[in-house]
Amino acid sequence: MRALVYHGANQASWDTAPDPVIEEPTDAILRVDATTICGSDLHILRGELPEVRAGTILGHEAVGEVLEVGREVHSIHPGDGVIVSSVSACGKCPFCGDGMYGQCRNGGGWILGNLINGTQAELVRVPFADHSTHRRPDALSRGDAVLLAEVLPTAYEVGVCNGHVGPGDTVAVVGAGPVGLAAVITARIYSPRRIIAVDLSPARLEAARHLGADAAELPGRLIADLAEGAGADVAIEAAGDPDGFVLCTRVVRPGGHIANIGMHGKPATLHLEALWRKNVTISTGQVNTSSTPWLLDLVTSGRLQVSRLVTHTFGLHQMEDAYDVFSQGTDTGALKVLLHRK
Ligand code: ZN
Ligand code: ZN
Repeated sequence: MRALVYHGANQASWDTAPDPVIEEPTDAILRVDATTICGSDLHILRGELPEVRAGTILGHEAVGEVLEVGREVHSIHPGDGVIVSSVSACGKCPFCGDGMYGQCRNGGGWILGNLINGTQAELVRVPFADHSTHRRPDALSRGDAVLLAEVLPTAYEVGVCNGHVGPGDTVAVVGAGPVGLAAVITARIYSPRRIIAVDLSPARLEAARHLGADAAELPGRLIADLAEGAGADVAIEAAGDPDGFVLCTRVVRPGGHIANIGMHGKPATLHLEALWRKNVTISTGQVNTSSTPWLLDLVTSGRLQVSRLVTHTFGLHQMEDAYDVFSQGTDTGALKVLLHRK
């Protein structure tokens, strides 16, 4: 098969690789119908995740068709169309029992395209397939479906839920990339009074307006805007940037929540001297994807409109071109790029 293979910092290429095979009785082998690229793939490519070994196939989001299952897989069968969750879950350990699949103690968690070969390939081995895949309704497009693998549950669980977004809230979303914009979309579920998206890129601010932000502003404007009122009830950090985190600490109201979604490649300064005075609650976290079935229902029924998050479409074999467009997203306007089997 062909796959995007990581060869060390700043090196990855679309190569020939061995077809995956069933290794554990809980595995499934899928034909990848569509996959996408995540900001964390760019962190890997910059060499910021030393646990990713050279030779690993990248990618952790996919939709595909089941080709083969191990003898202990019972919920999916060859021929089924499924969404592959970015987080693998054994379904048996105490953390999985609490829905904290990202912390699975039996070899699950974020392993695809990280500790084992991933989804940016023609075929993929999915471990713990019973608990790590979701049936894809026929009516759901590949583009909408692949958003349920990670970006929507990440924004919803780590941003909206951890931040306790509620009716009437003012929500500031710092960073209007794919995850930040998914937070704009999923925050609306709770009828906040106002959602303000912040970014440095004019293209992303424009996208935020189209996706439901009530205002989209440069960082300095946000501070001035919120200084006139009490501040934001919830500040969601979706940039993965130390300055983005500090901005959240400045705009959050006393007693408010800062929900950090961003994956930080560098340390951020925690101004406890100021945050303590403001009674601020800070949450962090990796996604568990425990909300995916619920979000899948909202997207399939048309209650959540998410299609505009996919801005570019490529064939799987155009993976390297797609990485170029995605990594320059602030200029190209790329949000999620869809790579699919023709
Ligand atoms: Zn990701
Ligand atoms: Zn587990």
